[in-house]
Amino acid sequence: MSNAPSTSNAASAEKLRDRERYLAKLIVPPGKRIVLAEDYNPSFTADFTHKKEAEQQLAENIAELAKYQEILYAQNTYALLLVFQAMDAAGKDGAIKHVLSGVNPQGCQVYSFKTPSSEELDHDYLWRSAKRLPERGRIGVFNRSYYEEVLVVRVHPEFLDAQQLPDSARDNIWKRRFEQINAFEKYLFENGIVVLKFFLNVSKEEQRQRFLARIDEPEKNWKFATADVKERGFWDDYQRAYEDCLNHTSTEWAPWHVVPADRKWFTRLAVSEIVIRTLKQLNLRYPEVSEDRRRELLEIRKLLEAEG
Ligand code: ATP
Ligand code: MG
Repeated sequence: MSNAPSTSNAASAEKLRDRERYLAKLIVPPGKRIVLAEDYNPSFTADFTHKKEAEQQLAENIAELAKYQEILYAQNTYALLLVFQAMDAAGKDGAIKHVLSGVNPQGCQVYSFKTPSSEELDHDYLWRSAKRLPERGRIGVFNRSYYEEVLVVRVHPEFLDAQQLPDSARDNIWKRRFEQINAFEKYLFENGIVVLKFFLNVSKEEQRQRFLARIDEPEKNWKFATADVKERGFWDDYQRAYEDCLNHTSTEWAPWHVVPADRKWFTRLAVSEIVIRTLKQLNLRYPEVSEDRRRELLEIRKLLEAEG
C-alpha cells in the first residue's frame, strides 16, 4: 500500500521516457543521412495499440497546448511556425484541425499555399511566405510552404520557366535553394520565430485507399481532385525529392519530423506532442509587472472600489 504512489510515479516516468524515445525517432537528425523507405515506417504507432488511448492523450495535449499558447501570446516574444508538407490525402488538413482545435483562434494564423499567382511569380520565391509569417505571440501554420519550391517544382522542373530567374540562378538550383532555405530559417530562429517542420509520411497503398474512399463516399467527393491521381503517378520522384530535401534542410534550428501518416490518430497525437515539447523548451513566461506598475494598479483598484 505504502509504496503505491512511488510505483505509479515510476510507471509514469517510464512512460515519459518511452514517449521521448519514440519522438526522438521521428526527428530527421541534422547532418545525418536518412533513407526514407528504410528509416521511417508510415504505419508506426509507437506503443499505442488503440485509437481510443491515443485520442485520450491527444485531448490532454490539446488542453495543454491551449495553456502554452496563452503564455506565448502574453509574452509576445516568440512565434511558432508549423510547416506541413505531404503527398495528397496524407492528412495535413485533419492534423491542423485537430491539433489546433483548443487554441484561441486569435492566437493562430493558418495559410494554405497553392500554385503561385502571377504576382507571386514576379517576386523571389520566399516573398509570399515572408508575408504570411506569424506575428510574435502567435502560432502560424503553413499548409504547404516554400518547400514546394524544392518538391513539386523539382518533380516538374518546367515550373521554373515561369519564374523568370536569371540563368545564373539555375545552376545547381536545388542545392542553392536548400542553402537559401536553411539561411532563411536560421534568420527566423535568431529573431524569435521558431520553425518546426512536419512531413506526413503516408504509404502509397494508404493513399490509394483514401482516394478510393473519396470516390466511394459522396460526402468526400469534393476532396477528390483528378490532378491528385496524376501526381500519384510521380510517386517515386516525389519520394526522392522529399528524401533529398529532408537530408539537406533538417537543422538544429529548424528540424524536420517524419510523422507516420497511415493511422490518422497517431499522426495527430505525434504532431501535438512535438509542438508541446518545443513550447516547453522555450521556457515561456507571463510578462512580469514592475513594482511601479503594481503600485499604479493598486491605486486604480482603490478608485474603482470607492465608486461602489
Ligand atoms: P487539399 O487537396 O487537401 O485541399 P492541397 O494542399 O493539396 O490541399 P490543392 O489546392 O489541392 O491543395 O493543391 C495545391 C497545389 O499547389 C499542390 O499541387 C501544390 O503542389 C501546388 N503548389 C504549391 N506551391 C507551389 C509552388 N511554389 N509552385 C508550384 N506549385 C505549387
Ligand atoms: Mg490537393
